[in-house]
Amino acid sequence: MHLTEIIREVRKLARDNPDFVYDTPYDYCFYVPVGDYPACIFGQAIHNLDPDFDLDRYNPNENIDSNISSVIRDNFEFTEEQLIWCRKVQMYQDYKSKWSDCIDIADKETPISLGYANSWQENPVELDQHNKFCSGKMVRENLATCLNKYHCKECGIIYKVDSSG
Ligand SMILES: [Zn+2]
Repeated sequence: MHLTEIIREVRKLARDNPDFVYDTPYDYCFYVPVGDYPACIFGQAIHNLDPDFDLDRYNPNENIDSNISSVIRDNFEFTEEQLIWCRKVQMYQDYKSKWSDCIDIADKETPISLGYANSWQENPVELDQHNKFCSGKMVRENLATCLNKYHCKECGIIYKVDSSG
């Protein structure tokens, strides 16, 4: 599985539950439900995509680094920008931000930016993943004459096209 799919699911969960504030009986987040407390946003997203995925082993204990980077590095294909975005979302979730705010802040502070399409030798992995898995539409925003920004709200990628030649 590629992280693009997990990011899409995380963004969908936040859209469906924008005001949700994650809470646990402990100081850290859990990837599986604890008592009446639901799993964290990444736990829910991964479970929705693959119910057989063993999330239990990433629950915090003294033998394991339980942050989302470890889960991702151990199990999925990813790009650094995507990894950083996920860490940011988890951090704000654990700071008790509303899920919609976690996404908005991560998008603002560490966007999954692919730079200028003009400079690509070939498509970035994130764009290939978007074309393959993501049903999101690339929304165009005109920034200046001959300068456009494209953004997918489903998988979060952003890039610019400078057509001034
Ligand atoms: Zn997309």
